[in-house]
Amino acid sequence: MIRDIVVIGGGASGLAASISAKKRNKDVLLIEREESLGGILNQCIHNGFGLEVFKEEYTGPEYAHKFIEEFMDLKIDYLVNTTVIKLDKNNDDFIITLSSKELGIRNITARSVIISSGCYERTRGQISMPGDRPNGVITAGSAQRYLNINGYMVGKKVFILGSGDIGLIMARRMYLEGAEVLGVAEIMPYSNGLNRNIVQCLNDFDIPLYLSHTVTNVEADEDKRLSAITIQQVDERFNPIPNTEKHFEVDTLLLSIGLIPDITLLDDLYVEVDPKTKSAKINQAYETSVKGLFICGNSLQVHDLVDNVSKESSRAGLSASDYLDGLVTNRKKIAINPGKNILYVAPQYLDFGWVEKDLLVSYRSSKKIEKALVKVYQGEKLIYQKRRAFIVPAEMETLTFSYLELDQNQDIMIEIEEV
Ligand SMILES: Cc1cc2nc3c(=O)[nH]c(=O)nc-3n(C[C@H](O)[C@H](O)[C@H](O)COP(=O)(O)OP(=O)(O)OC[C@H]3O[C@@H](n4cnc5c(N)ncnc54)[C@H](O)[C@@H]3O)c2cc1C
Repeated sequence: MIRDIVVIGGGASGLAASISAKKRNKDVLLIEREESLGGILNQCIHNGFGLEVFKEEYTGPEYAHKFIEEFMDLKIDYLVNTTVIKLDKNNDDFIITLSSKELGIRNITARSVIISSGCYERTRGQISMPGDRPNGVITAGSAQRYLNINGYMVGKKVFILGSGDIGLIMARRMYLEGAEVLGVAEIMPYSNGLNRNIVQCLNDFDIPLYLSHTVTNVEADEDKRLSAITIQQVDERFNPIPNTEKHFEVDTLLLSIGLIPDITLLDDLYVEVDPKTKSAKINQAYETSVKGLFICGNSLQVHDLVDNVSKESSRAGLSASDYLDGLVTNRKKIAINPGKNILYVAPQYLDFGWVEKDLLVSYRSSKKIEKALVKVYQGEKLIYQKRRAFIVPAEMETLTFSYLELDQNQDIMIEIEEV
């Protein structure tokens, strides 16, 4: 049997994509490697989820539950405890190899695939951190899982490197569980987390944030457990400034130093990758350079808000359905390029084959800008602009405009002007 759509990953993204495709009467199979659906939301027991989609604030598991309920009501097929280990193509179809607790190893064929596999955390090995290699240096997301899912307290005297949202949320979580949280160091001159998290997770608990600082030494005791760290201020080229050392006796260092989209399954498909997002390049329908292969959620771009994951993935599910219905014609595309002060844009292509859609572009700024003017050009022609009082790299921005009048032969460029 050939499935219409196989969705890989059962987090916020995979659930929303499956639901929208199923509502278009497609035969959908969702595959999730964990024993339950919900993805990373299951370990995010704090609130702050759903304000845009439901106009109410939920915890992560509550937000997931809303979608799981709808998913179950629609009687969508799914497999848990099942990992997709390989993705390949056979002419126009996809061969999905999975390893399942119940089924063992087997292949499934599908006409279309949606990747919703989330992202993974950068670890110590991916940054140069001098010093010993003791126990007690772990990623903030792993610590969150140990604490919130498994019930293990990972340490008593904690320092956090990186001010991404997971680090900030874990600073508060560890504090509330009785740990001493001595501070958060951030190498950039601004935080990489949402402003609300700086206020609610650090300021409200008097946890100091050391901007333009990084860890420059790690010390182990005789049991090879972390005993102390040194942080230092850095200059604009991120070099440590002498005589700015601060020493902290800690047993735990949590790393919140970035998330990277998980696209390991794309390895065999020669998908075009954007070095800026570290994920597949897509058109406005979330379709990769391989026809019928879609990607969304954190495996496409790291999102700060789950509501945007759900909205984006719901669109991807509809696109996969349009693809199967043969609604895509023409296939003439132009590039959408990041210009001044833009870190990345997604989609990277506008494909005129998908004429019925507005163009929704996500982007992040490369620096903090107050009084910003976001401009979209096609060649020399300014085709769209909007003012923003404040733009920070930590918050994903979006803009939407119709592209029906656009020139099909000239690329688009998006930039942010400081006004
Ligand atoms: C610590 C933290 C705090 C956050 N706080 C907030 C907040 O307060 N408010 C808010 O709106 N958003 C918040 N977010 C963001 C939001 O929760 C995420 O962006 C969103 O849940 C990501 O959904 P996803 O489906 O893309 O990824 P995930 O939830 O990671 O789902 C991916 C799923 O794919 C599965 N998978 C991966 N590979 C395979 C494979 N090969 N085979 C089978 N299954 C596979 C994984 O097991 C996983 O379940 C937070 C995120 C984190 C990490």
